[in-house]
Amino acid sequence: MSDNPKAVSNFIRQRIDADLAAGRVDEVVTRFPPEPNGYLHIGHAKSICLNFGVAEDYRGRCFLRFDDTNPEKEDVEYVASIKRDVHWLGFDWQDRLTHASDYFEKLYAFAVELVERGKAYVCSMNMADIRASRGTLTEPGSESPWRNRSVEENLNLFARMRAGEFPDGAHVLRARIDMASPNLNMRDPVLYRIRHQAHQNTGDAWCIYPLYDFTHCISDALEGVTHSLCTLEFEDHRPLYDWVLDNTSVPCHPQQIEFSRLSLDYTVMSKRMLTRLVNEGDVSGWDDPRMPTISGLRRRGYTPASIRDFCGRIGITKSDNRVEMSLLESCIREDLERSAPRRMAVVDPVKLVVTSYPEDREESFVAANHPADESFGTRKVPFCREVYIERDDFMIDPPGKYFRLAPGREVRLRYAYLVTCTGYETDEDGRVTEIHCTHDPASRGGNAPDGRKVKGTIHWVSARHGVSAEVRLYDRLFVEENPAANRDRDFRDALNPGSLKIASSALVEPALAGEAAETTFQFERLGYFCVDPDTSPARPVFNRTVTLRDTWARKQGRAK
Ligand code: ATP
Ligand code: MG
Repeated sequence: MSDNPKAVSNFIRQRIDADLAAGRVDEVVTRFPPEPNGYLHIGHAKSICLNFGVAEDYRGRCFLRFDDTNPEKEDVEYVASIKRDVHWLGFDWQDRLTHASDYFEKLYAFAVELVERGKAYVCSMNMADIRASRGTLTEPGSESPWRNRSVEENLNLFARMRAGEFPDGAHVLRARIDMASPNLNMRDPVLYRIRHQAHQNTGDAWCIYPLYDFTHCISDALEGVTHSLCTLEFEDHRPLYDWVLDNTSVPCHPQQIEFSRLSLDYTVMSKRMLTRLVNEGDVSGWDDPRMPTISGLRRRGYTPASIRDFCGRIGITKSDNRVEMSLLESCIREDLERSAPRRMAVVDPVKLVVTSYPEDREESFVAANHPADESFGTRKVPFCREVYIERDDFMIDPPGKYFRLAPGREVRLRYAYLVTCTGYETDEDGRVTEIHCTHDPASRGGNAPDGRKVKGTIHWVSARHGVSAEVRLYDRLFVEENPAANRDRDFRDALNPGSLKIASSALVEPALAGEAAETTFQFERLGYFCVDPDTSPARPVFNRTVTLRDTWARKQGRAK
């Protein structure tokens, strides 16, 4: 039984429990089989957590197998990124890194076996004609004129296909099943095609390549996979999966079990679409922090723990798995609430002059790095006569319930002093350029000496000591919940033009300069941020991972 009492059960785990109890399986073996034709995304994370998670919990084994049968679209860059991402998520394949292409020789031998048994034949129709003769859901297909070639002729042609004697498309190898099957996948599916194309793993060794339906089941069997977990679109392929295994001398017969794919609101998850976003320059790359890719989420500031937590919460079922982005965001918020040190940064600064504070004076205040966890320690935050505060923390004519700074009002500059606004300056457009305050010297550290109530507390950064920084603020990549739903227009028409806003005149406290990429912080009152790889000590760059609260839901709520 499962080793992990915390894992939430699901129909797959129940099935594994039953297989183990009945002795049908001794050791659970799974695989995660990405095709290296793009970067992994959050949907893949669901499959990774399931496959590696099940293997871990049942003390079994999980293979990372590259499903690399389509050399045109595959690339070593993708292979490297997939390995990096699986590791980063916290899973380890140990010595079980394989490729479907490792089995090309064996796959060829199983194909020969099918031919010898009269279960496969070389068909010389072109792909368009094969497709046209496949029939429809209501009409049977028609048999290929090459269907009754002799075994000898088939063996000879198949060997010559492999030897490179024919151009692309001249012949294919097809299974000989049933052109009248109600399941279109069973109507003599193509098993091999000719492609004179170098392969990222096997180079020029092959010019015929096996198709997914033939390759996957045999690769599973060769690795001793017990439970081959895949997404629902493969349900109709299961009879073919079983047919290939039943008609070849493979060492075992794995069970294919399907679960529903994850879809996230306001993004797309198909690799074809993600590739277009990258190629059309809609995003800066596969790791753009707005992308639903693992590397994008990582750059955005997501942690492996938050993604695994998310995958646990969405669960595994057979029903539609459209999930709100806010669920993913609440997972990272919860994680960073515990794990991110606090700092002060001002994203949209306006100057505040403490006119009662001597020009040549400076002091520093001790600030806690985490309000609830002393082990985070403290740091010193420098202060002087001029500080910057957030522009929207000051209003000339504030509405009710606005507790921040306004003319005549007193607020707390966090950790520093209570200050009272005595005036302000504006430019010719009425935009505030400077705010004037006096401070209460007896309120050092930000405490009211006489216990008077000061409702507002705002953050600030010393003008003299602050470090100028770039802060990248992200919003949803698309303005529609399901950008892929409308097939009459390009999904890219639903891109959100405001998905990235760059605050280039942000100011951060000196403790934030020189931090390494991927370090995460809470900027007090603003949200969670992480250091972007574009950072430098002289010009730190931060990404906003997520705001402190689900402001987006609020915005939507108001709009309704
Ligand atoms: P494509 O979009 O190119 O068809 P894919 O998204 O299916 O590809 P693969 O590389 O074939 O990508 O996926 C590897 C594994 O991850 C497969 O077992 C697949 O079922 C699973 N997977 C892919 N997308 C999702 C998703 N959105 N939710 C859950 N699992 C997924
Ligand atoms: Mg796929």
